[in-house]
Amino acid sequence: APVLLEVRGLKKYFTIRRGLQVRAVDGIDFHIRKGEIFALVGESGSGKTTVGRVVIGLYHPTAGQVMFDGKDVHRLSGAELYRFKRRAQIIFQDPYASLDPRMTVAEIIGEALDSHGLAHGRERLHRIAELLRVVGLNPEHASRYPHEFSGGQRQRIGIARALAVDPEFLVADEPISALDVSIQAQIVNLLARLQAERGLTYLFIAHDLAMVRHLSDRIGVMYLGHLVETGPTREVYRKPLHPYTQGLMSAVPIPDPRRERQRHRILMEGEIPSPINPPSGCPFRTRCPRAEEVCARVRPELKPVEPGHQVACHLY
Ligand code: SF4
Repeated sequence: APVLLEVRGLKKYFTIRRGLQVRAVDGIDFHIRKGEIFALVGESGSGKTTVGRVVIGLYHPTAGQVMFDGKDVHRLSGAELYRFKRRAQIIFQDPYASLDPRMTVAEIIGEALDSHGLAHGRERLHRIAELLRVVGLNPEHASRYPHEFSGGQRQRIGIARALAVDPEFLVADEPISALDVSIQAQIVNLLARLQAERGLTYLFIAHDLAMVRHLSDRIGVMYLGHLVETGPTREVYRKPLHPYTQGLMSAVPIPDPRRERQRHRILMEGEIPSPINPPSGCPFRTRCPRAEEVCARVRPELKPVEPGHQVACHLY
């Protein structure tokens, strides 16, 4: 499939005080093909959410480009920008904060339809009812307010709002992290079904690998603003290469204890260092159990170890 999204040399720094910069994203490259689910995984503070926001156009990059269907997202204007906003949508992490409490569900979804002049009158009502059905909500509840719904139902409303403009590409920014564990699988299944039915392309942002294991085609692991490993999901699971990915794996509950031993189980110590003053050389070296002298001096580049499987680590 052709590449739909390509991120090149992306950096996003935030200035918090004069002279103090947070390097939230510090030079990353990846691409997503049409119809693919690419998962970006990392702890909080890794920069993954910032990547999602730059990709969708909510933040302007400090350096680098986001190419969508061959065009630089941050150089679009007029009709092209309007079209991009229809083709690419975002689902936010917190379904409590991202829905206006003063608007009914019908108004929330209707607003999305109206923003692109997609339906009027009776057809508009039909579209709203249909969207609610698609995400598994009762269309008769369209006149209710967000607070009348559970967390999982609110996330379904957020998904219906994103789908209203019939997008091709969705950024799902930790869409299940704020939900009860019992609800999480339902939302993941809904997103997977929508992707299959509509041929959608996803950038799926998550903080643990277990969430995306069965959903994503490829994974990118982020640490302190850098992409440290990317590859097909199955490959990364079968053979995690980066010590950080191996550490993340050890947090994944594995039902079979014999298989657990096969995985290089590493307990990660310490917190992510501050992105204001990141370590020299390899960003992971302060927590890495295998760090060598070179790791403090030279930043490892992301390079292919096997076809499609890349890692940024001096061990390879
Ligand atoms: Fe660890 Fe060095 Fe590899 Fe970084 S480059 S992950 S510090 S071994």
